[in-house]
Amino acid sequence: MKKKLTALMTVFALVCMMPYASDIVHAEDFANNQDYYDSVCQKYNKDSETTALCNRYRNWLSEQNKSLSGQVAGINSSIERLKGNIDALQSEINKNQSLIDKLDAQIAKNEAAIKQIQGVIKQLQVEIKQTEADIELRDHQIKDRMRSEQASIGTNAYVEFIMGAKDLVDMVRIVDGIARITENDQDEIKALEADKAKLDQQKEEQERLKKDQEAAKKENEDNKAVVVEAKAAQEALKSEYLKQEADLIEKMRSAESAQQAIQSQIARVDAANFNYEQSNGWIIPVQKAYVSAGTWAYPGGGFHPGKDFAASIGTPVYAPIGGVIVYANNPIPTTNGFLGNWVGYPAGGGNTIHMIGSVNGTTYAISFFHLAQENFLASPGMAVSQGQRIASVGHTGNSTGPHCHVEVFNLGNMSVEAAVAQFSRGADFAWGCGWRTQSTSCASRGYTPCRERPEKFFG
Ligand SMILES: [Zn+2]
Repeated sequence: MKKKLTALMTVFALVCMMPYASDIVHAEDFANNQDYYDSVCQKYNKDSETTALCNRYRNWLSEQNKSLSGQVAGINSSIERLKGNIDALQSEINKNQSLIDKLDAQIAKNEAAIKQIQGVIKQLQVEIKQTEADIELRDHQIKDRMRSEQASIGTNAYVEFIMGAKDLVDMVRIVDGIARITENDQDEIKALEADKAKLDQQKEEQERLKKDQEAAKKENEDNKAVVVEAKAAQEALKSEYLKQEADLIEKMRSAESAQQAIQSQIARVDAANFNYEQSNGWIIPVQKAYVSAGTWAYPGGGFHPGKDFAASIGTPVYAPIGGVIVYANNPIPTTNGFLGNWVGYPAGGGNTIHMIGSVNGTTYAISFFHLAQENFLASPGMAVSQGQRIASVGHTGNSTGPHCHVEVFNLGNMSVEAAVAQFSRGADFAWGCGWRTQSTSCASRGYTPCRERPEKFFG
């Protein structure tokens, strides 16, 4: 049974290693010949065989895009996980730091207590020494007195016996009851001895307290060493995580930029694959609107490079000619407009669309600004027919009320293909004409690209 299975697997492996016949015939190595397929597929007016080839190339690009999307999403979730780990570690590090701070404060307290106790001990030592000196002094005084009494008593042996006492207490014991030492002497010496014993006891007590504080300090220091070690390990792990995060972010950036490149290839292939309609006239992009500002000048003065179609929010915006959408972006909420709000691309445009098309053999580029976020129907690379709805009137960016600002550029006899390619390089919505002066108008400028008055085409 086992042998049979092994044989079967060998056959399977062989089959897997051999490419299918159909693959050999249709193998198109898109991965290694992208420049070639780009140049073939980004051209207009292809024959049907090339169009089919380019559709396959487009599908392949789309697969690459999908797989890059997957990669980006995967990397993103890894980054999120890492961020979670880093946050958790950071909170542990913070906890340990506050523990270290607490222990440091306790150690400082222990040190202060030890210092204070040492002072007390020093003071007690001085007092003990003083008391000892007092006792010694009394001892001498008594001995001296007894020596002087010796003559009158005349019992040398007795005095020698007393003098042989090993210390004062011993002597007091020996002479106790003998009238040679007065009761006063005895009381005084006993009081001094009691003082000294008390001081010794106090000193012992202070030394015991000092030992307690030293033991507490040692314990706090040992605990701190453990926490410091744990914190260092957590910090090492955190910096490892941060390094991993930086690597992942780098990987994600390169995947994203690869994805952007693929998406722009797709857009160009799509634009070239569309047999866009040559228009032979224009239609008005916003119906039933009133003109709130005409071209070249605002009613209140100032250069106005387009025509403003004022209409209520949500009013459809139509493609005035057939063509290709080269830019479309609607990240901005529909009613965020106000004067001097420079959001959007180009700055202040809010949600914007730029399209390129051809009318009676002349190529035109058209901008639409301040669009609504909702019912935004255009996307880059998309082909649109004349009259097709592409967006809705909004109030986004540098806008004082709901309207759609439209600009028209005459690109002359530049092909739509060349215009798409030029726009994709710089995304210049003004086609080198800038935003400041009427001198780039077609009436003033003797060459293209130039700014047309939209009124020329739609009233
Ligand atoms: Zn305007």
